[in-house]
Amino acid sequence: MRLAIWYAALFILSAGALTLFVYGLLARALEARDHQALETLLSRYAAQFQRAGLPGLRRVLEVDAAEGRNERLLIRVTDGTTAVVYSAEPPGWSDSDTLALERSRNGDSRWVRIPKTPDAVLEVGTVLFDNGVSLQVGRTSRARAEVLEYFRARAFEFGLVVAMIAIAGGVLINYAGLAPVRSLEATVRSIVETGRFDARVAATASRDPLDTLGGQINVMLSRIETLVNGMRGALDNVAHDLRTPLTRFRNVAEQALVSDDPAAMRDGLGRALEEADRVNATLNALIDISEAETGTMRLASEPVNLTTVVDEAMALHADEAEEKGIVLESSVPSSVVLTGDRTRLRQVLANLIENAVKYTNTGGRVTVTAEGAAGEVRVSVRDTGIGISETDAPHVWDRLYRADASRSVRGLGLGLSLVKAIVEAHGGRVELTSIPGKGSTFTVVLPTAAQ
Ligand code: ADP
Repeated sequence: MRLAIWYAALFILSAGALTLFVYGLLARALEARDHQALETLLSRYAAQFQRAGLPGLRRVLEVDAAEGRNERLLIRVTDGTTAVVYSAEPPGWSDSDTLALERSRNGDSRWVRIPKTPDAVLEVGTVLFDNGVSLQVGRTSRARAEVLEYFRARAFEFGLVVAMIAIAGGVLINYAGLAPVRSLEATVRSIVETGRFDARVAATASRDPLDTLGGQINVMLSRIETLVNGMRGALDNVAHDLRTPLTRFRNVAEQALVSDDPAAMRDGLGRALEEADRVNATLNALIDISEAETGTMRLASEPVNLTTVVDEAMALHADEAEEKGIVLESSVPSSVVLTGDRTRLRQVLANLIENAVKYTNTGGRVTVTAEGAAGEVRVSVRDTGIGISETDAPHVWDRLYRADASRSVRGLGLGLSLVKAIVEAHGGRVELTSIPGKGSTFTVVLPTAAQ
């Protein structure tokens, strides 16, 4: 509201200043015009006097008077003995004016102003000739004052209209101008009140800084929302994934406790250990991913021969592949040497091979290939398995994400997140192409001079 008042005040002030300026100009112009007219008359009569003497001047004056040219004018001619030779008086003329006129005739100045009413003066110009003859021509400023008074009255009315427009305009500008701020405030309030991040600032297409700010805040809110939802989801999943093994752990331990048979107790302890390992593996994987993503994972960098690492990773899953009747093969040039953490790189390949074997049916084929290109090496693990749908593909790298198609197979949904985090910590990137039902190819691109 304060802004609206300021707007209005400024508007009214400038309109007032403009009106005053115009009023001043008009008053000056009218005055100059009157003055000029008197000057012209004076010079004309003076010239006539010079040419034809007093009788000539009288004649001209009488002709002018008869033609009505000198109406509302004061014209007075006196001879050397101050006797009035000719006199025409304007309406409202009084004796006191005559006295003032006498005084002005003897004064030094050519022009005198005799006050008549508060708003009008009689302006008289005097010409003295050599032989004591004087000629005086004057006019009251009444007509001028009337015009100015009319102007003042209209200006006042105009001022009232301007003030009303200014106040209305101020309120309107204020209302319209602050719309983005109101929208912003409403959005923030909604977030504060509901604790949810789904509120958005109303978008407009303008390039106004406040609207752009609104757009930026929307982008920020989307990011925060994705992050918060991701964190909530991850936390839910972790809680869920830990609850199952812990419940099993508890059941196994309880059964072992109530059993009298030492063999059953031993078996129970063994299974409890397995479940504990599973919980441990989940937590370790989560910690590893966090460390790799935040850059706090310690990488023992050394030159690593790719063939050796691939062989080691394949050896870890050779048994499973054989059990499922899957052919596991590799074709890696022996010369490729990387710089990186050997254990972590093996973990990456082992995870990819494990997945490939896990999600490929009997009779399938898993192939590991590698090829070098300018400054980097591309290691691919290709399978002929179930494949990944287009909707799942972008999410398989997310923590705890498991595609519906793979629900029947055991898994934590952390393997690929760890792969991605480790590869990126090595300065590399991951790629995936897949055709559902036909197979997938996971590719890891690593710089050959990795840090
Ligand atoms: P999981 O422990 O479930 O294997 P990952 O993070 O390793 O977790 O993989 C995430 C999901 O990606 C899997 O649940 C599966 O749906 C999909 N996936 C991964 N590798 C393959 C593959 N080779 N073939 C088909 N689907 C795969």
